[in-house]
Amino acid sequence: MGTWETDTYNLAICPCGKGHVQQVVETPDNPWSRMSETYELDCADCAKAWEISSYDGTLTDRRSKKEAAQASVASQAASAAVGAYLNSLLPNWPFPSFKTKGAEFEYLLAMGLYKGTVGQYRYLRRAQSLLEIADVHPGSSIVPELVKKLGDPNQYESLVAEAKTAKQTAAAKSEAIKYIHLPKRK
Ligand SMILES: [Zn+2]
Repeated sequence: MGTWETDTYNLAICPCGKGHVQQVVETPDNPWSRMSETYELDCADCAKAWEISSYDGTLTDRRSKKEAAQASVASQAASAAVGAYLNSLLPNWPFPSFKTKGAEFEYLLAMGLYKGTVGQYRYLRRAQSLLEIADVHPGSSIVPELVKKLGDPNQYESLVAEAKTAKQTAAAKSEAIKYIHLPKRK
């Protein structure tokens, strides 16, 4: 499908003032294709610093977007470290001996170590051990006793504090991403 005509309109001055944010309208050479409207940044300097949405022409500052992405990765890693620490303690937990898989399920549920149904648990249990299925997270009711008995409460608290700070930083960096929206047209 060829293009019958391409029109370029300058919609706004770019951030540095030397170029423009442009709308490119392509009119197809046949009646069954739709007209296409995209947005481009016609300024080499600004293209280095800003990313343009071809869909609505919004400019996003590359540096603050990258910082937010890095902070988000760091936050996920800090949260994962809390979970990994807790799960590293679990193999030494004095699990009682269970008579049935149903009793195991009830115990894991009460301790906050499993979230599925008893049917799902029985199914998983055919191929996996209890420890492979059980998963501790910071909200699990087993946590205070698990950390006190088998872990280091100071170490746990500092991991939790790091995860909290990293989460706050990620939220702040996300809020701080700079955007420039095209002025609304009538
Ligand atoms: Zn510019």
